[in-house]
Amino acid sequence: MKSALMEELSWFDVQEYLKSDDLIILPIGSIEQHGPHLPLATDSINVLYLATQAATACGVLVAPVLKTGVSFNHYDFPGTLSVQPESLTSLIVDVVKSLIHHGFKKIILLNGHGGNNSAIETAAIKLKIDFTKQIIGVLHSWLLCQESVDVLESPIRYHADEGETSRMLVSAGALVNMDRAKLEIPQSKSGLFNFDITEVFNQVVFCGLPRTQTVTKSGIFGDASIASAEKGQALFKEMIENFIKEINRLKAVELEDYIEG
Ligand SMILES: [Zn+2]
Repeated sequence: MKSALMEELSWFDVQEYLKSDDLIILPIGSIEQHGPHLPLATDSINVLYLATQAATACGVLVAPVLKTGVSFNHYDFPGTLSVQPESLTSLIVDVVKSLIHHGFKKIILLNGHGGNNSAIETAAIKLKIDFTKQIIGVLHSWLLCQESVDVLESPIRYHADEGETSRMLVSAGALVNMDRAKLEIPQSKSGLFNFDITEVFNQVVFCGLPRTQTVTKSGIFGDASIASAEKGQALFKEMIENFIKEINRLKAVELEDYIEG
């Protein structure tokens, strides 16, 4: 293949690919504020980088990244775009239906933005009702990063922070403005929100994401000033290696076994 990105191939190339393989990754990101130092497309850029690196290593394809996600909590910051959760769900369902129509049978929905979680999971459930002979997997990208988070020094790890900035220095360093990367510790007056990314979606009573401007003025949650490309390389290395393992595990599954199961 000339490229792992399906959009850079011709229909003829895709037809050739489908003769020997049937797996594709659909990355889903966001267009939302990431502090004054990172581009709005940070989640989309980082999730596409992860998908492309792993796909190239495994010889599989990546579908066009869905850039606009569910980001209403960042709405106070210029440039942030958001769709309703059901709009994202519908878009994912329609794109995956198109892929299945052409013969893809194993589809990984690779999520790069926490606000998309429920929309993506709902899409997967809806697709599984109609398509029982295909595998539609959901992978939240941050779950691929376990041990390498030890390279991070800031105790607050959530958004536009040390980790995310470090990864951007690897995936699109020219778009990062480190002069504006600073420390801002978010404050939740109610105490209902936990800003630790490892805990945020596991809270007993999840009251939703707070409106960003009420808890941080810059849009940074954490310490972006201590980000580095070296830290980003360590994070991506583990994420890519773990993703490659998941892709190969899925590739090895016989669909007949999955259907019977
Ligand atoms: Zn982000």
